[in-house]
Amino acid sequence: MSTVGPACAIPVPEDVPTPELLERAWAARAALGDRLVILGHHYQKHEVMDFADITGDSFLLAQRGAAATQADLILFLGVYFMAESADILSQPHQTVVLPDLGAGCHLAECADIFTVRDAWAQMTAALPGKRVIPLTYMNSGADLKAFVGEHGGAVCTSGNAERAFRWALSEGDAVFFFPDEHLGRNTGVRIGMPEDHGVVWDPRVAELGGADPARLAGTRLILWKGFCNVHTTFTVRQIEEARAADPGVRVIVHPECPRPVGAAADEDGSTEYIIRRCEELPAGSSIVIGTDWNLVDRLRLRHPDKAIRCLNEHICPCVTMNRITLPKLTWCLESLAAGEIVNVVDVDDDMKRWARVALDRMLALA
Ligand code: SF4
Repeated sequence: MSTVGPACAIPVPEDVPTPELLERAWAARAALGDRLVILGHHYQKHEVMDFADITGDSFLLAQRGAAATQADLILFLGVYFMAESADILSQPHQTVVLPDLGAGCHLAECADIFTVRDAWAQMTAALPGKRVIPLTYMNSGADLKAFVGEHGGAVCTSGNAERAFRWALSEGDAVFFFPDEHLGRNTGVRIGMPEDHGVVWDPRVAELGGADPARLAGTRLILWKGFCNVHTTFTVRQIEEARAADPGVRVIVHPECPRPVGAAADEDGSTEYIIRRCEELPAGSSIVIGTDWNLVDRLRLRHPDKAIRCLNEHICPCVTMNRITLPKLTWCLESLAAGEIVNVVDVDDDMKRWARVALDRMLALA
């Protein structure tokens, strides 16, 4: 089991004026100096992102945190599975903390070790003589990363899912991908599978996840029925409306969006891909993006020479990402500066070892 430190009883009142919070947070941050590195995920609120020493996606941040060997404290501005990943890759002298231990990820929580183990037992029994390779998305618990490591599989990110799927299919007869059905389907299409290929495994259905046994026997792709509650709010209709309003618009969406949305967009790609495309497209471009609002808003501010907006301007930003607030960050920094290491995310050693095996397999694909 992954273990955590004391729960976050936050003594920093939410109603302290922002200028005072900023002053206190920066003072605590300065007192910690090089012994602290702050990692900020792209979907974090602006009010905390200014404190990040390094920004990026979850895997890059975990790697960069481990490489910051001068720091014995890694503060993660992100969600729980990201802090776990940072701890998996961290150096023995480093401790990872998360300002709010309740900052989870809806998608990661669509799969848990118990239902995945049960699914694995059922599908391997139903597919005698076939080799199934389990792949988990980065957005998953440390226990699931360890599970795939122990069972010959690997982790993948939205940026390298295609490579990971090709590798898995070269190693075995079928891929069992969790927890994101949509990233799995989008990746299957990218590597040449028909749109309707694949079997969806619904963990709420006790027997074979609701899969038809004959279809299961003939498939190369088994997809866990999980989804991100932010990226599945984007629709084909929103794309049609964006094009009707501006025929020259370039629509770019994240591959956690459902397949019809990915198919209707001009491009789909990982968070890093979206950031890069906003840099590459010429001044004057009109760009509509289907991903978390905080990132889109930052891209809009970063590129004032381009018209950048969110595919759904009324979307709620990811609620769990937004649990990391300035008051909680202030509390966390002040506690660390006072010598009290709060909200530790500590993956147990055996789990860490197998999860690293799965992450190393992913790195070897590069
Ligand atoms: S945007 Fe989706 S995948 Fe990312 S942290 Fe939020 S729920 Fe998870």
